[in-house]
Amino acid sequence: MNRIDRKSEVISRGEKVLMDTYNQKDKVMLKGKGTYLTDIENNEYLDFISGIATNVLGHANNKMIQTLTDQASTLIHSSNLFWNIQSIQLAEKLTQFSGLDKVFFCNSGAEANEAAIKLARKYGRETKSDSGIEIITMNQSFHGRTMGTLSATGQLAMHKPFAPDLPGFKYIPFNDSKALKNGVDDKTCAIFIETIQGEGGVNEISDEFIQTINTLQKEKQILLIIDEVQTGMGRTGTFFSYEQLDLDPDIVTLAKGLGGGFPIGAMLAKDAIAKHFGPGDHGTTFGGNPLATATAKLVLTEIQKQSLLDNVQRQSKKLINGLHQLQEKTHLIEEIKGKGLLIGVKLTVDVAEVIDKSYENRLLIASSKGNILRLLPPLNVSTAEVTECLEILEKVLDELIKENE
Ligand SMILES: *Cc1c(COP(=O)(O)O)cnc(C)c1O
Repeated sequence: MNRIDRKSEVISRGEKVLMDTYNQKDKVMLKGKGTYLTDIENNEYLDFISGIATNVLGHANNKMIQTLTDQASTLIHSSNLFWNIQSIQLAEKLTQFSGLDKVFFCNSGAEANEAAIKLARKYGRETKSDSGIEIITMNQSFHGRTMGTLSATGQLAMHKPFAPDLPGFKYIPFNDSKALKNGVDDKTCAIFIETIQGEGGVNEISDEFIQTINTLQKEKQILLIIDEVQTGMGRTGTFFSYEQLDLDPDIVTLAKGLGGGFPIGAMLAKDAIAKHFGPGDHGTTFGGNPLATATAKLVLTEIQKQSLLDNVQRQSKKLINGLHQLQEKTHLIEEIKGKGLLIGVKLTVDVAEVIDKSYENRLLIASSKGNILRLLPPLNVSTAEVTECLEILEKVLDELIKENE
């Protein structure tokens, strides 16, 4: 059997047995090392998707392999009927980095946000009233795919096939201070935001909106929940994106980059809020297991040890400068948005076409809502790899210009 046959065999077998929920590209990935992925036909790709902002240390990181294998051969899971040291050490680090007090571990971003919704509702019920459980979320937000987090997600077209929604959410336009002020009433217990809407178009929060949130949070005793599932873990150049902003979250959620590609999520909260959860209020069988928490602890240690936050800021500048040069040269770029290594590039040509051509030229990049390319390299991406990405993008845009002449 030659290689092409093997790929088509994998895909046809996959189509038979896997539910059709992902619209996969016509590629089968076999292995990775650093910022590169290799497919079944032995093509090597520069990976600026990083498992959708998860593989923050790149693929097959040696220290991660060591931690995973050591911990797997010691203890993978023993349940939350008992304490485990790894989860405590990880929680100590997360509270130290975030300034928040308590941590709940789970296994994904949606689960972290579910936990946040439950905690905010219980807080609202216990400090306001039985109806004080409403949460304000933003249009174009993305908080996950479970019924609760789908209902929190401000993209109503996504809700329709799964109606009825979980009640208790109010949607307002992102960065619209007037709508936020008008939206808040006696029933409001929390405002739920992303500082950069990663899936919704790489839209950044405005300073004015931040000030409005701060005022409402103080005056009306409303919680601020920040979904840092995509923006957290150093992605924007600080551990949490809110560190660069004048925001004081009561609850923060994390997942994606937390395990460096290994599944784990977390919800962090201030003591005064966290104390509204008691035994039995929330839980998960796998949450905080030693394997996931040992791995996440290693990821945090490596981000610090290798000064990866500095690298994010350095490579971000280089990437954004290069994109601005491409913008001047090609006129196919309308806008460059985002922060750190969460960069959005709004195109005047079809983003799907640019992505396909990039794949042909061995560069993996993602998209976001609104004809936007999304670049998400690992936090330890090198200068040479950023240069390579820019060169491939230039070649792709040049090809498109020639084709349209
Ligand atoms: C990816 C994402 C989620 C959902 O995370 P899952 O691990 O896929 O459940 C939630 N919020 C934001 C901002 C995300 O980017």
